[in-house]
Amino acid sequence: MLEYKCRRYGAVLIPAPPGFPSTRMCARCGWVGPPLPLSQRVFRCEVCGLEMDRDLNAARNLSAYGLAALKGPTVGRGER
Ligand SMILES: [Zn+2]
Repeated sequence: MLEYKCRRYGAVLIPAPPGFPSTRMCARCGWVGPPLPLSQRVFRCEVCGLEMDRDLNAARNLSAYGLAALKGPTVGRGER
């Protein structure tokens, strides 16, 4: 389904690996916390103090993963 939609819109599909911690990884510093219960809507980083809607945080992590994958495997995590 996703592949079909990507072809239709000319987008590139970059699947994240299974177990990619998109919802529990800090989009700012990369800290990975314990799994968040679905009832908890806000992600809080214990290292840098980032507070963000959990879905937005996950979207940023997946976006960063996709951009890094497009650049190639040598790009270090957290590089800006
Ligand atoms: Zn953080």
